[in-house]
Amino acid sequence: MQNSMTQKLIINKFNPEPEIISQAANIINSGGLVAFPTETVYGLGANALNPEAVKKIFIAKGRPQDNPLILHVSNFDQVNKLVYLNDTAKILMREFWPGPLTLVLNAKNIIPLETRGGLNTVAIRMPDNPTALALISKSNTPIAAPSANLSGKPSPTDANTVYNDMAGKIDLILDSGSVKIGIESTVIDVSDPNKILLLRPGGLGIELIEDFLHVKIISPDSDNLKLKRSPGTRYRHYAPNIPVIIYGSKIPDEKYKNYINESAYIGLEMPNENFKEILIFDSVENYAHGLFSAFRKFEDQHLIKYIFAQWPPGNGIGLGLQDRIKRAAQG
Ligand code: AMP
Ligand code: MG
Repeated sequence: MQNSMTQKLIINKFNPEPEIISQAANIINSGGLVAFPTETVYGLGANALNPEAVKKIFIAKGRPQDNPLILHVSNFDQVNKLVYLNDTAKILMREFWPGPLTLVLNAKNIIPLETRGGLNTVAIRMPDNPTALALISKSNTPIAAPSANLSGKPSPTDANTVYNDMAGKIDLILDSGSVKIGIESTVIDVSDPNKILLLRPGGLGIELIEDFLHVKIISPDSDNLKLKRSPGTRYRHYAPNIPVIIYGSKIPDEKYKNYINESAYIGLEMPNENFKEILIFDSVENYAHGLFSAFRKFEDQHLIKYIFAQWPPGNGIGLGLQDRIKRAAQG
């Protein structure tokens, strides 16, 4: 597939045009790459069962080969062919799919090692987005799709950002505007239903899963689970070019005082200092939705010295938001 030219097509958010979906599905079926919206962030999709196609994802993103991909499905029957299901996984799928919950399960051999980064397990989810579901269904194959950004950059929440990172590297971008949630899915390992592990907090609050199952999910910092952690967490992630500083109720160190008027602030409440740029969100959900695009916006302005990000409360999507801010600040 020729991909020195990347096409971007606007697609209807609620009723994706069948002609455009067919065109995109043809690219997937001939081993090409299509970026498409999901409810979390934009994904960079390839046929998950075609190792050559999957390799192109890693090349386009500059992603380490041992960082496994998430498989996206559009119906429940598809799942049986791909992974070994247990009862807990089944009821979670019924309750939370389509939606921002990714389940890690033991993989069947049909899934190439390239897709699962050499592991015995694989991550799988059903996205809650009409374009994503139509594309997967029309392609008639699971689609492997990490976020459609260059590795190490914040995930894209709109198609123009995908274009900036991926132009010339992929075949097609389906553009349905801004996504609904803005941070990636929650990833849990349910391969052992008696010991459910949180691999990555995200779009679905873990309290909802715990209340539904009446069990406690084990988080990475509650125990010495380093080895069990999601392979992706080894890599620097979600980091803009500008240093991100976590902000409690004031700047954490006097040394930043001289840079306030060259710095940006994002958060839920007005800061005490007079930052050059101030972006206030009226809810934790909107903060999560706007985080990555704020990072990108300030990067583009070039004149911002630091980004101060207010530490949000850690319930619901707040836990995922805390995680992304923490990672950005580690850069
Ligand atoms: P993304 O780059 O947003 O697609 O992230 C996918 C996340 O899912 C990464 O953090 C991966 O490490 C994680 N993941 C995918 N497959 C597996 C797996 N088999 N076991 C554990 N984590 C996985
Ligand atoms: Mg990613």
